[in-house]
Amino acid sequence: MNKPHEREHLALVIGAGVAGSEAAYQLAQNGIRVIVVDQNALPYGKIEDGLPLWHIGLRDRVEADIDRKLRHPKIKFLPLFKLGKDMQLEDLMKNYKFDAIILAFGAWKDRPLPVPGIEKFRESGQLIYQNDLLKWYNHKHEPDYDGPLFEIKDGVTVIGGGLSSLDVMKIVMMELVGKALKEKYGLDYDLFTMEKRGLKSILEEHGLTLDDLGLKGATLVYRRSAREMPLKIPASDDPADKERAKDIAEKLLNTYREKFLFQFIPHAVPVDFEEKDGRLTALILEKTKTENGKVVKTGERFRHETPQVISSIGSVPVKLPGIPYEGDAIKTEGPLKAKVAGYENLFAVGNAVTGKGNIKMAKEHGREAMKNWIETKRTPVAGVVRQLDEKYLEDTDKRAESITGYILSQPIPTQEEVERIWELVENRRKQIGYTTYDDWIARHKPVRLEELLNKINKPREGKEGKK
Ligand SMILES: Cc1cc2nc3c(=O)[nH]c(=O)nc-3n(C[C@H](O)[C@H](O)[C@H](O)COP(=O)(O)OP(=O)(O)OC[C@H]3O[C@@H](n4cnc5c(N)ncnc54)[C@H](O)[C@@H]3O)c2cc1C
Repeated sequence: MNKPHEREHLALVIGAGVAGSEAAYQLAQNGIRVIVVDQNALPYGKIEDGLPLWHIGLRDRVEADIDRKLRHPKIKFLPLFKLGKDMQLEDLMKNYKFDAIILAFGAWKDRPLPVPGIEKFRESGQLIYQNDLLKWYNHKHEPDYDGPLFEIKDGVTVIGGGLSSLDVMKIVMMELVGKALKEKYGLDYDLFTMEKRGLKSILEEHGLTLDDLGLKGATLVYRRSAREMPLKIPASDDPADKERAKDIAEKLLNTYREKFLFQFIPHAVPVDFEEKDGRLTALILEKTKTENGKVVKTGERFRHETPQVISSIGSVPVKLPGIPYEGDAIKTEGPLKAKVAGYENLFAVGNAVTGKGNIKMAKEHGREAMKNWIETKRTPVAGVVRQLDEKYLEDTDKRAESITGYILSQPIPTQEEVERIWELVENRRKQIGYTTYDDWIARHKPVRLEELLNKINKPREGKEGKK
């Protein structure tokens, strides 16, 4: 029998973010050839277009790790290939002999803000969704940035409540205060300094307040209380741990509010809006309460003046034909939520499954799902596997123990078949001018804001040095 490293099985991973690159690497380490496609020119996913750009160290570390994995000799990276546009899942499954297809395409569809009629403000930038905001914020300094342009308006309201909403609050407050400091007082603070020091400390240093800057600031509206914000995962289901997590959530929110000077309206949801001459003027908010863990509207409404709304209520996986969904999530089976329901050889990992998660969870999901499902019975992955389905584990045990195990248990495809697909990828790479992974990345990595700022600052520093 062939040893695993001598086998030439072939898998396809769709999406080259944290989860997809990790899954591909695990398979490659087991001797399986893997094609990893991504809709974008660059891999990295939310690390490039979601994680706010002040996380320089984290971004560079995670991207270097993704590079290391995608450089594996058994992995072929194909950029600018979008599932659902360049090819449909059905075609891929019918016409190509992949042992397994792994969906790692993240969650890029903003959950629509449930306020009838409000979408009409999107085109004018009076309504902005989080994914668009972050792409703009992370890339607007690039000379060839051609995405939508936004201007944050004083009095902006953000709807949301997770960690990403707090990043959004930082972004909008830094945009407002940074601009006003420059225009009114000629004080030029870059975002890295503002983010590190916080706006309160900077304003205090100059004896200024938001009032002095002529700013109302921004407001965060959340449907639950501060203590219920999902900012900290409880260490266990123990009530004491849950209370501790709530204390931390409340403290975190207060720290953010103090440093970045924004207002907070808990227990409210937007239900309607007011406008004048096509301009958004106010949101109508309805008070809520939490009953048995559920958010319940009370019927009591109030007006909240605002010229702009940013919706940060979460992202969900895009719905594509052929993939089963349960609500907004991909319908999966099994303890790791990795096997797509109804398919033997289709799997899903990372944010693509539920829309939620962080880097650690996406990576662990990508890794653990490829490894041994049975192993996870003993060591559940924090945050991913909450409840193990014993029955499923028994069934799985009889079939295959993991995605890697599943692939290796399949008949080896003929080498002609593998080479045919390999060749297809090569041809497509030629069409887009792809030579090597490193060359492609070097040509497509955008200029970094910190580099631009260093360049701007350098002549000044040089002069000071000469004095
Ligand atoms: C504002 C914000 C702040 C965050 N801060 C943190 C933080 O501080 N710490 C932390 O740990 N996590 C943070 N996260 C979360 C973290 O970035 C994500 O959980 C993680 O990167 C998700 O990885 P993924 O591989 O599952 O998905 P993604 O990164 O979304 O990767 C999916 C990939 O699939 C590609 N793709 C999508 N559709 C298709 C298609 N149809 N065909 C081909 N390719 C496709 C995409 O281009 C993308 O490259 C933050 C997220 C946001 C939005």
